[in-house]
Amino acid sequence: MINVRLPGVGAFFSLIRTKPSVRAEATVAHGFLSTLRSIVGHRHVLTRPGETRRFRTGYRFGTGEVLAVVRPGNLVQQWRVLQACVGAGKIVIMQAANTGLTGGSTPDGDDYDGDVVLVNTMRITGIRPIDGGRQVVCLPGATLHNSRRSSNRSAGSHIRSSVHHVSALR
Ligand SMILES: Cc1cc2nc3c(=O)[nH]c(=O)nc-3n(C[C@H](O)[C@H](O)[C@H](O)COP(=O)(O)OP(=O)(O)OC[C@H]3O[C@@H](n4cnc5c(N)ncnc54)[C@H](O)[C@@H]3O)c2cc1C
Repeated sequence: MINVRLPGVGAFFSLIRTKPSVRAEATVAHGFLSTLRSIVGHRHVLTRPGETRRFRTGYRFGTGEVLAVVRPGNLVQQWRVLQACVGAGKIVIMQAANTGLTGGSTPDGDDYDGDVVLVNTMRITGIRPIDGGRQVVCLPGATLHNSRRSSNRSAGSHIRSSVHHVSALR
């Protein structure tokens, strides 16, 4: 930062000059975010603190900074997002509904040794009845309510219990 006094004005103005290395980092980060946006769409890459807060905050505890929250819409997008993250050396935290109670679903603190990308899978909602509708394969954004509806539709009255066995495919 350089303070400049303009003759006759009597006020200080601050010119902010960023170092070349900082500019290069910003360009790389921008390129990485553009890659993520090209995979999942612009509105599914969240970067502003206000819009990422609910994803960054654990149900019981834990909060921290993220470079972005990315919300893939299907498994191929998820795979491509992970490929991009690994290729760029980012730290990845996977998250579904963020109701976990152990602190694993969110960042915690600010001492990570790199950028954290939080990949939230709640848009991946597929439900596939198998075995004549006696079982369902639920992708991580599938809700219990929808999986029960889906199994009931394809298997008549097979599944009625509130104890509904679901294997989330992650
Ligand atoms: C009010 C309340 C009541 C609860 N009651 C119960 C209960 O009765 N029984 C019970 O068992 N649990 C209960 N839980 C705990 C919680 O709901 C479960 O642990 C739930 O399974 C978490 O699912 P989630 O989709 O929210 O996972 P998240 O919280 O999003 O993630 C949980 C963990 O899995 C990891 N993860 C998520 N997605 C992936 C992925 N694709 N690949 C790799 N890792 C991944 C996350 O990083 C995190 O460590 C309760 C929680 C709350 C808040």
